[in-house]
Amino acid sequence: MKILSFTKHAIALSVSKPLIAAGFLAFGLMAQPAQAALTFNFNYLSPGQGFDDPTFGADRKAALNDAANALGAYFSSYTANLVYDVTSYSTDNSTLASAGSSTFEVPGTFQQTFAQSKILSNGNDANGAAADGVINWNFFHDWGLFDTVGANQLDFKSTAMHELLHSFGFSSYIENGGVDSGIQPGNQATWLTYDKFLTDAAGNRLVSDDGIFDPSKVAALTDGTENAAGVFFSGENALAATNGTGIAVYSPNPWVDGSSIAHLDDNSTATNTSIMNAAAHNTGLDTRTLGSLELAVLKDIGYTQVAAVPVPSAVWFMLSGLVGVLGVNRRRKTA
Ligand SMILES: [Zn+2]
Repeated sequence: MKILSFTKHAIALSVSKPLIAAGFLAFGLMAQPAQAALTFNFNYLSPGQGFDDPTFGADRKAALNDAANALGAYFSSYTANLVYDVTSYSTDNSTLASAGSSTFEVPGTFQQTFAQSKILSNGNDANGAAADGVINWNFFHDWGLFDTVGANQLDFKSTAMHELLHSFGFSSYIENGGVDSGIQPGNQATWLTYDKFLTDAAGNRLVSDDGIFDPSKVAALTDGTENAAGVFFSGENALAATNGTGIAVYSPNPWVDGSSIAHLDDNSTATNTSIMNAAAHNTGLDTRTLGSLELAVLKDIGYTQVAAVPVPSAVWFMLSGLVGVLGVNRRRKTA
């Protein structure tokens, strides 16, 4: 087994089974199919602190559920219950949080994370009773929970959505120098699905179909400090969303462990306000929605049913009313 980001905890987990609502409605009525949805179970494993802080813990847990549900809304065509081991700490450094989901290790292949395969198979659990992913949160920082984020606070919801997306497979196994778990470029290694779609700026793949990192592409990994250079995500949907250029991937020089390649490019103007940038966009309210580029990446890595979250109907009605009024006013002025 290959661990993404973290060592797993050897703690027995209780995985809740999905409730199956069986039975008939009244004769003559069609039973409505159960609505597809992602659900989340979080196992909190840092007693007395962080998410289990006696004062702040309840709100932090509620905020994590809120963020998970906001992300899950984009995946509402899928049905899976995702189980995460959640830990926390408080350290004065620039790390805000991290997360991941493991895979099988099969050199020469591109693997889905366990969370990803569970979603894409609508609930099939490739790693059995073990948690599907891990989240580790740094509560040294001042976090704004829910919809109020102070000018000096970091946006919890944006960060939590970002971290969960990593566990969904929006991440890379490529390490500095094109290495993977000690395997050098030119040899078969185990990669994530995401890695299959990475290219240099000319559109040439970094990792071949048989799982070999091309030694001639090592330089591209740290060539992306400017626009239109470095590494790109060049799946079919990504190319369609970018007029064929591909989506810029974070590939700064020098390499940044834990950030390079696994994020959209903080240094490119097309991608630098993305929820999947390596760094948070300063303090205060941050990006909380998936843009067309993230959706393209997600479609390319297998989530073909992922969709922008529709505006709630009541809000939509108000907006369309407003647009109508503005349109009328404008017509009147120009008539
Ligand atoms: Zn990240």
